[in-house]
Amino acid sequence: MPDLIKVAKFGGTSMADAAAMRRCAAIVHSDSDKKILVVSATSGTTNLLTEFASDVSSIRRVEIAKQIADKHYAICEDLRDAEGAKAEIEKILQELNVIAGRNQIMSAMLRDEILAMGERLSSVIFARILTEEIQSPVRWLDARTLIKTDSQYGNAEPDIPEIEEAAKKHLIPKLNEQVVITQGFIGSDKNGITTTIGRGGSDYSAALIAEAIDADVLEVWTDVTAIYTTDPKIVPEAKPITEISFDEAAELSVFGAKILHPATMVPAMRKNIRVYVGSSIDPEKPGTWIVRDTKEHPLTRAISLRRNQTLLTVHSLDMLHRYGFLARLFEVLSRHKISVDLVTTSEVSVALTLDYNINTPGKSRLTEEVLNELKEFCSVDIQEDLSLIALVGNNLDATAGLSGPLFSLLEDVNIRLICHGASSHNLCFLIDSHQDEDVMRTLHKKFIS
Ligand code: ASP
Ligand code: MG
Repeated sequence: MPDLIKVAKFGGTSMADAAAMRRCAAIVHSDSDKKILVVSATSGTTNLLTEFASDVSSIRRVEIAKQIADKHYAICEDLRDAEGAKAEIEKILQELNVIAGRNQIMSAMLRDEILAMGERLSSVIFARILTEEIQSPVRWLDARTLIKTDSQYGNAEPDIPEIEEAAKKHLIPKLNEQVVITQGFIGSDKNGITTTIGRGGSDYSAALIAEAIDADVLEVWTDVTAIYTTDPKIVPEAKPITEISFDEAAELSVFGAKILHPATMVPAMRKNIRVYVGSSIDPEKPGTWIVRDTKEHPLTRAISLRRNQTLLTVHSLDMLHRYGFLARLFEVLSRHKISVDLVTTSEVSVALTLDYNINTPGKSRLTEEVLNELKEFCSVDIQEDLSLIALVGNNLDATAGLSGPLFSLLEDVNIRLICHGASSHNLCFLIDSHQDEDVMRTLHKKFIS
């Protein structure tokens, strides 16, 4: 058995081309512990497949299939056994061509079958590059035998006990001998039909696998060197974070830092698995460790921004109806699978924030149907294009020393909603999006720099 069991996830930009894949192979090679690799599709491929699976003409589908084929064949050209690699991916590309030529309605089920091809392609090629580079056998494992989920195609819910069972059967026996490579993002339901767990879900897949085999470390290799105190594109003084706690990292990923899929921290926390975030382009540069207990506990560790927020304000029409209003409201939202982020309430009204639809960016989840159901018992007001800014750190529920400076800095900012006190690790508020970057810079200067 290796000393430590590690699960290493390589994202789309780490799989971008043969050179990027070779850099990842070198990372694997440089560490004798590393064993289970979880990969994303090559960068841009899932977007292309999403377009393929949407409502486009079959001419466009054929075009996309060709574009995906060209891109992956080009990567194969850089392999020693280019022909062998091409022959292997041709089988997958053939499936895509068959669908491209057919004139049919895309069901959610077929859509997942299509989306899964990105990870299948990248993992097959990367397995061959690894074999060339590290010269020891590499075992390719179909993630659909491992990541068991429900049948909510496009956003399937992993079944943790089933995954643990599957890992015992298909993965743990392989750990002694060799490097195992599998795909992120994809799984299968109890009938064996392909599912996907939501865009950006490869991090979550890797965390689920780490949990199932009780790994010591989960590594997430991406295109940034570390988690930063805030988005360096907005605030140039942003600094890399050396160490951050599970709780803080979870808040950050939920509140907009795009480095980790929001669900990633959950399995890691359940099994106390340390997470490392590093760059596969600059693996030598120090990354970020995410651990249960950090050495330091700063009041504000980071500031995050999440755009495209919708503020839904509802007033009960029936003032006498003193109980059941919240229950009824949340019942409607939950039945439509609308996830609510922040909530503030008064006696007869409730304000809550909703995210845009992650699978169809730009579209709010509040469909006509939902609104009509709500209007049966409340009046509804909707404001869109708001930004949510969160301070993430420690003891933020106790405001001594915080609320004074914070509110005086935000004097000229129209704050629409504020959430404070529910978590000691975040304080967040909603503002008009045109002010968000200025606010981020001001807060970073005051609370972090
Ligand atoms: N390839 C999938 C996506 O682009 C999953 C992932 O990369 O995490 O969403
Ligand atoms: Mg990602």
